[in-house]
Amino acid sequence: MISAKGPTSAFIKVACEKCKNEQIIFDKASTKVKCLVCGEILAVPTGGKAKIQGKVIQTLN
Ligand SMILES: [Zn+2]
Repeated sequence: MISAKGPTSAFIKVACEKCKNEQIIFDKASTKVKCLVCGEILAVPTGGKAKIQGKVIQTLN
């Protein structure tokens, strides 16, 4: 569910496409976020919203 409350940052739950580990990450991550289990890149910084590489399961606000 995506909140329309404004340009607030959010946390999102993503699943690693490699090992299926589910992890909560910051959606404006300023550094690469890696899977804690296998090291696969889950998100890469773009200057704004991070580009999510894994599968987004849920947005948490
Ligand atoms: Zn993984």
